[in-house]
Amino acid sequence: MSHETIFTKIIRREIPAEIIYETERVLAFKDISPQAPTHILIIPKLAIRNLSDAQPSERDLLGDLLLAAAEVAKRGGLAESGYRVVINNEVGAGQTVFHLHLHLLGGRALGWPPG
Ligand code: 5GP
Repeated sequence: MSHETIFTKIIRREIPAEIIYETERVLAFKDISPQAPTHILIIPKLAIRNLSDAQPSERDLLGDLLLAAAEVAKRGGLAESGYRVVINNEVGAGQTVFHLHLHLLGGRALGWPPG
């Protein structure tokens, strides 16, 4: 089901964001509260609440998101040094914005387990 979040406003350019990558279906922009030297959010322009809400009909779009993350990481020089892609799904996992998004994190050592 379609719904509005702060990310909808970023897609529509109603609020500013540092957009660094865009395709017909995907948008990537810097996180407003970065948790690493590189912290970029990759979102579908289609409003999907979270990964649990994704449908088989959105398979291609989900693939687009991962490929966009890889491309943004490559352009940012992270392919060699390493990076992490995270999806927080629901409140218990730290999801605060209910529009599916990938966090691309890099530029520092990333511990495991992530906590
Ligand atoms: P979540 O906690 O849902 O996995 O991630 C939401 C992310 O969106 C957080 O890392 C938060 O800093 C970021 N965020 C929230 N509001 C804004 C905003 O208005 N602009 C940008 N660029 N990032 C935002």
